[in-house]
Amino acid sequence: MKVVLSYAPAAHDESKNVSWAQVIWKGNNMRYAETGFNLEIDLSRGNIERVETDPRDTELYLGGLGTNAKILWDRVPPEVEPFSPDNLLIFSTGLLCGTPATGCNRTIVSTLSPQTRLMAFSMMGGFWAPELKYAGYDKVILRGKSPDLVYLWINNDKVEIRDASHLRGKGAVETAELIRQELNEPKAQVAAIGLAGENRVYFASIEQGRSSASRAGIGAVMGDKGLKAIVVRGTKDINIARPAEFIGLCNEVLKYIKFRNENPIPGVMPILAGLGSPQEMKVHDEKWHTENFAWGNSRVRRKEFWNEEIAKDWMETMETMRTRLISCYNCPMTCGATMSPPGLPTYMMKCFSKLTYTMAAFSDLQFGLGIAQSATEYGVDAFSAPQVMAFALELYENGILTDEDFPGMPSDNEGRFYWLLDRIVRREGIGDVLANGTYWAAKEIGKGAEEYAHNNIKKHEQLPLKLGMLNPIYFLMYATGEKINITQIEGQFPQAPFPTREEREAFVKDWFQIPDEKFKQYFLDWELRGEKSIPYYPTPEMCCDIVDWQERMHYIDDALGMCAGLSSFPLKPPYHIHNYPKFISAAAGIDMDEEKLTQAIKRYRTLVRANNTRRGMRRKDEKPPEDHWRKRFPELEEKLLDTYYKFKGWNNQGIPTKESLHELGLDYVFEDFEKRGIYSDNGDTPSEETSAEKEKE
Ligand code: SF4
Repeated sequence: MKVVLSYAPAAHDESKNVSWAQVIWKGNNMRYAETGFNLEIDLSRGNIERVETDPRDTELYLGGLGTNAKILWDRVPPEVEPFSPDNLLIFSTGLLCGTPATGCNRTIVSTLSPQTRLMAFSMMGGFWAPELKYAGYDKVILRGKSPDLVYLWINNDKVEIRDASHLRGKGAVETAELIRQELNEPKAQVAAIGLAGENRVYFASIEQGRSSASRAGIGAVMGDKGLKAIVVRGTKDINIARPAEFIGLCNEVLKYIKFRNENPIPGVMPILAGLGSPQEMKVHDEKWHTENFAWGNSRVRRKEFWNEEIAKDWMETMETMRTRLISCYNCPMTCGATMSPPGLPTYMMKCFSKLTYTMAAFSDLQFGLGIAQSATEYGVDAFSAPQVMAFALELYENGILTDEDFPGMPSDNEGRFYWLLDRIVRREGIGDVLANGTYWAAKEIGKGAEEYAHNNIKKHEQLPLKLGMLNPIYFLMYATGEKINITQIEGQFPQAPFPTREEREAFVKDWFQIPDEKFKQYFLDWELRGEKSIPYYPTPEMCCDIVDWQERMHYIDDALGMCAGLSSFPLKPPYHIHNYPKFISAAAGIDMDEEKLTQAIKRYRTLVRANNTRRGMRRKDEKPPEDHWRKRFPELEEKLLDTYYKFKGWNNQGIPTKESLHELGLDYVFEDFEKRGIYSDNGDTPSEETSAEKEKE
């Protein structure tokens, strides 16, 4: 049920080229935690509507990713192309965004990805989502395409589509600043694309404050819709169902964060011992990343790379360029930093992008932090972009691309990266091919280039990591993950066994975040060597439990708008399966317990899969790169996948079964699958064409 409560036909001021709608408040149903309203914007027609949402959807799918998946299912059938006006681009707050819950500030952006051609749901921290809630909306749902470049200005009840032709070609950070000045609204929050988004680069990001939504090319969809930015200012309140109880829960979390900050977990590497993102802005010791992750086009391990001299040099670079540590909205963790490379404007740096350009180019930190400034302004994913450039140079070194493909490219390595980045975001020459990411670029280049696009899952560049022995937990996470973000669904269970039983016993003592005691035993018995070590331990059944638990936490976060750094990603986090139902009940007034919450997550997680199943995703797509581990075990891998599919209620193609859909109240999905003949599909559904190829047709 969707009721349009207020609808003012968009007026248009020719002289300023501005469409606007004054929202008229009707309806008086009290909603808690959420506002109960979405903004629906048709960019083709310049139409703006404020639409009341159905509270029953919140109970069934929570919010954020959950309700986004439902909207995409209902309104974007598989015939729709990522660059079609019928594709939706949804900016959603999480259910608890804007409440006092610490670290709950994620914007969940969902659409169809031009890169994977599947459902994309990229998250960004910062300040945007709470601001949207305070303006009175849970989501902004965009459809159509604007004929001219525009930006959206949401100022509480007044919503305008404004001309952005003067911002064409501007950087994402620069755009945010110019708009704030133009509107005289220094407190407005701006989510903007740079040149990469405007030119539909498949790994274009949406940049906002100290964060960005980068994966799967959602910035390209924003650019395709002719939308340069969404600007929000909100000054309203959010209702909390049981405020005193809710504040009590928030205080417990804050207390625990303080405790954990003072008591890092012993026995794990420093970046995993604390909370928040891996604290890359504070950590100076990069031995682990630089020696374990692959350099270049995710090929070369440099095991003896880190030494005292480099440590000193990199620390000086970081200390010189880092001007201030910063947090996202309502969070004490200061995971990000403002960076001021010499001679360049200040920008904000987050997480591992500190190292991605450096390592792709076999260069130093100074280079990495410098080029990241340009990349942030252009608005590209800091994981894909460096890999794509390193891939191009590898093809060049191996004669697959030649001098003719790189006219005027500098001869020095760093210069080449700057040159390539520039060509890619402008889609000039070879840059036009590379702008589609390594998977599609390799197909277009041919001549054996596909061998070099060796780090993709579901057509998307993954973490540049190549390891020795298959890890069965990670195999399942990588293979079946649909989040395509860098952490996939890892987190709550330690990444590796602790060497001694004593250490393991100490670890499990205060491990109250586990959903079931059996996880303690799984971990206690996990050995570095011998019978109970990888790849055959944990057993496939145990791996299912572990992966499912980890995934469950990520999916809760993505519906509530919680930062994974305080929940699904670190070990022993402040938010967990036992206190989340209390948060939801006290804030949203929904009668929630662990069982009901688990069922809701299962429902919208299945709906994400259903969206992708309908778009052709099958078992053949669920495999990590061949060279991700040196030692592979094909029989075990098949067994892992079989067991996990069964555990999840999916058939051997990874398609949710009639029974599991029925149990989740998703019979409408089953009916659609039946109608489309999806169950009789043998897994050979073609899903290879690019949007560009379709468009050419
Ligand atoms: S933990 Fe870090 S990344 Fe997460 S909300 Fe806080 S500051 Fe942002």
